[in-house]
Amino acid sequence: MEEAPLQKLEDKLLQEQGVELWVKREDLLHPHISGNKWRKLKYNLQEAKRLGHYTLLTFGGAYSNHIAATAAAGKEYGFKTIGIIRGEEHLPLNPTLSFAASCGMELHYISREKYRQKSEPGFQEELLQTFGEVYLLPEGGTNLLAVKGCAEIVQDIDIQYDYICCALGTGGTFAGIVAGLAGEHNALGFPALKGGEFLQQEVEQLVQAYSGQHYGNWQLITDYHFGGYAKVKPELLAFMDTFEQQHGIPLEPIYTGKMMYGLFDLIRQGYFERGSRIVAVHTGGLQGNAGFKQRLGVRG
Ligand SMILES: *Cc1c(COP(=O)(O)O)cnc(C)c1O
Repeated sequence: MEEAPLQKLEDKLLQEQGVELWVKREDLLHPHISGNKWRKLKYNLQEAKRLGHYTLLTFGGAYSNHIAATAAAGKEYGFKTIGIIRGEEHLPLNPTLSFAASCGMELHYISREKYRQKSEPGFQEELLQTFGEVYLLPEGGTNLLAVKGCAEIVQDIDIQYDYICCALGTGGTFAGIVAGLAGEHNALGFPALKGGEFLQQEVEQLVQAYSGQHYGNWQLITDYHFGGYAKVKPELLAFMDTFEQQHGIPLEPIYTGKMMYGLFDLIRQGYFERGSRIVAVHTGGLQGNAGFKQRLGVRG
């Protein structure tokens, strides 16, 4: 595993507001198993091996970072992989699915309706009947072993800081960060979807189930979803471009772009006391950019 260094940003706004911002480059952790998805898979791969499984089966949308990461991890660590993909097959495969297939992942498509049942015992039983003995990874890879892996993001940070920020999909990564902090510092979570308030309870439950603790040093900032999951606005894309040019750090529009936009907005509003040091976790996910540009009809 490679390292995920901390990178300090130099920016006029930060100077004016008297805050420091450091980016935890989880996107550099592994060339193909991106950022937080690698953290989430790590102990699941060990567990699958311990239980004697040869096959990993998981779920995701057609652009899912988790699908791409599971496919790459299977190839690297010697598991067969099966991806249950939401919706119909579209050929040629988009960049995410064509990468997954090139890693040897077997792709199966199910209707959106059927996909909604993915967590139900009846459906999981059906999958086991069809595919035999497999190690089941939930959507986004979120389970307690994923929380355990993500707690290590925090242990890896060797500077003093006041705030740590992270984007949320299922909330598994953020729950790991909260568990890893064990009540120290403040954690701010930025849901990538509209109505992200429900994640309050998700995170609470995951942290409780993992650590047996209840912590009060975290909160969700739910205003920066830009209309919903995978929805974008021109000002978001413009912000990401400027950010990359200025700091040399690429973002993606689904998670890290929204978090960073929100964080800069809060800094501008004076949300953080002067002298605060903030760590923003870059959770990776850059593989999705190829498919995203294709959808927008952008070249490059
Ligand atoms: C999946 C993903 C997230 C969200 O992680 P959860 O654990 O599902 O909350 C955040 N950022 C990126 C880049 C991701 O790929």
